[in-house]
Amino acid sequence: MPMIDRQGRKITYLRVSVTDRCDLRCVYCMAEDTRFLPKAEVLTIEELDRLCRVFVRKGIRKIRLTGGEPLVRRNVMALIAGMGDLVADGSLDELTLTTNGTHLARHAEALAAAGMRRINVSLDTLDPVRFQGLTRWGRLDQVMNGIMAAKAAGLAVKINAVALKGVNEDEFDRLVDWCGRQVFDLCLIETMPLGEIHADRIDQYLPLSEVRARLERNWTLKATDYRTGGPARYVEVAETGRRLGFITPMSHNFCESCNRVRITCSGTLFPCLGQEEAIDLKQPLRSSESDLPLELAIDRAVDRKPEGHDFVIERDGVPTVHRPMSVTGG
Ligand code: SAM
Ligand code: SF4
Repeated sequence: MPMIDRQGRKITYLRVSVTDRCDLRCVYCMAEDTRFLPKAEVLTIEELDRLCRVFVRKGIRKIRLTGGEPLVRRNVMALIAGMGDLVADGSLDELTLTTNGTHLARHAEALAAAGMRRINVSLDTLDPVRFQGLTRWGRLDQVMNGIMAAKAAGLAVKINAVALKGVNEDEFDRLVDWCGRQVFDLCLIETMPLGEIHADRIDQYLPLSEVRARLERNWTLKATDYRTGGPARYVEVAETGRRLGFITPMSHNFCESCNRVRITCSGTLFPCLGQEEAIDLKQPLRSSESDLPLELAIDRAVDRKPEGHDFVIERDGVPTVHRPMSVTGG
């Protein structure tokens, strides 16, 4: 039975945060002293595997693993191999990953071997000094090695870059050009008011409408009807032939076609990224060997999927949603 919510939206896409931990501290995502969950609260790899399989039985066709940084989770490759088997036997259409790329060089071949075809790598700048500043201590060369290893392993790479006022706003032409030459798609993301990060988000917020207008001075952006069911709206860059996506979560233009739900690494299901509404799946998962309580909890959650979100960046920088992206995984 497919999962269909009250608005008639078919839920086919699951994003799974496999850890809240990360080896970087991107300034818009985490505070330097972010505290992570105690181990006991985090689902084991076996529990995550079981949870994903229940969702697949309930009609999920696409899974994206995220975090925190998914590739810092010990034994995450066992989960990926297990999900890869579901792709191989046709129960799942696609398995993908969003990563910061720091550990990609080591894992790229295994990811491809597990049946992964595409990955998203987050990269906000091509400047090593800026990269270090933005991530607080990251090394650009490590990420570049990871990206090139992914490309060599045959994975299609999409680069995600968050648009930050006064930080990387002079780099978008360069990113479009670089992605074109590397044959990567690029997605630009507006900052979202999630989590407390000790910075005034109004200062970082850069509307993508402005970015797009500036890009159009140098590039021919052709309309496409390519859609993923998510918030991104895509154009094709005529000069490079690559797709360029704009994720503007502050606008409500995608909620009506939203096909996704998210689970955190501690087994909380969020039917909507932009609402506090949450349903605990850890208790039904841990309390019974039968999957029935879990299935009932998932049904209740889908039934409560909100019609839309209500992000607002307020002057005082108080986020409307208090959990950071590293918890729900973006
Ligand atoms: N660590 C992985 C990575 O960076 O790709 C996966 C998790 S990260 C939370 C997923 C995506 O969320 C990244 O592309 C990151 O840039 C984005 N992100 C994090 N905080 C954000 C925020 N406040 N607004 C917009 N995007 C954000
Ligand atoms: Fe880590 Fe990704 Fe958040 Fe950066 S955006 S701190 S890499 S989870």
